[in-house]
Amino acid sequence: MTSVKPSQLQHFINNEWHKTNGDQWIDDLNPSDVSDVIALVPAGSPDDARAASAAAAAASPGWRGLSGPARAEHLYRWAGAISDRAEELAQVMAREVGKPIGESRGEVGRCVVILRYYAGEAVREIGQVIPAQSAGSLQFSLREPLGVVAMITPWNFPLAIPLWKAAPAIAFGNTVVLKPAESSSYLATLLAETALTAGIPAGVFNVLLGSGSTVGSALLEAPEVRAVSFTGSGPVGARIAASAAARNIRYQTEMGGKNVVIVMPDADLAKAASLTAAGAMRYAGQKCTATSRVIVASEVEADFMRQLRSQIEALPIGPVTDVRAAVGPLISRASHDSITKALADANAESLFTNPVPSSAEFSNGNFFPPTVVRGGDPDGILAQRELFGPVLAAFTSEDLDHAIDIANRTVYGLSASLFTADLRAALNYINRIHVGLVRVNGDTTGVDPHAPFGGMKGSSSGSREQGPAAREFYTEIKTVQVNP
Ligand code: NAD
Repeated sequence: MTSVKPSQLQHFINNEWHKTNGDQWIDDLNPSDVSDVIALVPAGSPDDARAASAAAAAASPGWRGLSGPARAEHLYRWAGAISDRAEELAQVMAREVGKPIGESRGEVGRCVVILRYYAGEAVREIGQVIPAQSAGSLQFSLREPLGVVAMITPWNFPLAIPLWKAAPAIAFGNTVVLKPAESSSYLATLLAETALTAGIPAGVFNVLLGSGSTVGSALLEAPEVRAVSFTGSGPVGARIAASAAARNIRYQTEMGGKNVVIVMPDADLAKAASLTAAGAMRYAGQKCTATSRVIVASEVEADFMRQLRSQIEALPIGPVTDVRAAVGPLISRASHDSITKALADANAESLFTNPVPSSAEFSNGNFFPPTVVRGGDPDGILAQRELFGPVLAAFTSEDLDHAIDIANRTVYGLSASLFTADLRAALNYINRIHVGLVRVNGDTTGVDPHAPFGGMKGSSSGSREQGPAAREFYTEIKTVQVNP
């Protein structure tokens, strides 16, 4: 715990620190030790949101007027500025959101890769030449930036998600207002510092802190905002989609999951158990792609569950600053309470848990024991609700058809993996599984930053982030015909 008085964070608008004109503050707590108040986050005010969107609008003509190669140079410098502070950013991430230090370091490294990738994308072709009906005419399409783009992000990938949105937006000529989650606001201000160091021009990247219901919704009302990219929970995503549709601005909403592993009788059980344990329990199950259901063929169920148990027991629970740590705390006491209540409401039958160590360093944190429960009713709470914690619901299947039926029977459609040695079964599953991220013999979590990312059904409004897919969202097409 720190004895330093927590600082009051400020918005980053037009490359300057900007005091809120609101008077409400939110405690930003270390989830491993809730007596450690990292910072005070302004709840913000609608005026703050208007100032941020006005700054982004003022910077827009200059930024979109720069050439792609010039914008690319800015992104390369930003990657360098993050790389220079990588260890500090990773340590803050571990402290602020409870991500074990190994994964925090990995996330910072990924941010550097994301910025470099989109620096490269900024110099690619921006349109197509299309034969015109009349001879002698030149017809082509151009991809142009949208203007000001709002980004509303969750706490769980506190640097990677803001950057996998902001990097393509900026690379393609947009200006940005980022509204990070309340509980990852300190890191967002450090991200702003790196943008400043990199010389990103004033107003191109702004950080608006505060509560979703106050500044998030005010940002969506700002007339300058032409699009919103949201990642977070389903109910908030639905509200944002409705508000964006009412204003006829572009939106993408990436939301929760009830991600699934299917284990076939011919699977490599050791590999399946190890990757299911990792996917379900690392970072305390707080990844949108975390494995929350496992469906096991009855013939191998006893053997698989025994191996799964030993793999889960081998994953060290905190402290998050220890490089060996795999499982950290939940983000908040509220999350701890809601998972406890969901398990009670579901009358969950526990198959096994890995208890949180009883030593003093765990006593002030939101640690939750990794838990495997019987899945029970495929339409019940354990099969359907995203708990966002280290809880895995186990189901038994008779065959592949039965497993795919259970797997597809949720409102979500983010990530799935099948463990098998049978190519025919794998192809059948790839064809029928209804998710955006399909794996065979792999973890449900993790994604390459240069590959499209997003869910189906209730997990997404349908567009894709990352990789070349991001260009679709952050640009609009103009069709031009030039006649002699
Ligand atoms: P959340 O929905 O509570 O908050 C996300 C963001 O929305 C925050 O910045 C919050 O302040 C803001 N917000 C809240 N109410 C708002 C409103 N009325 N108007 C505008 N903004 C508002 O989510 P969270 O708890 O931060 O993150 C966890 C969720 O994110 C999980 O459901 C997880 O599955 C999901 N997630 C999805 C992906 C993905 O790519 N599919 C990735 C990471 C996390």
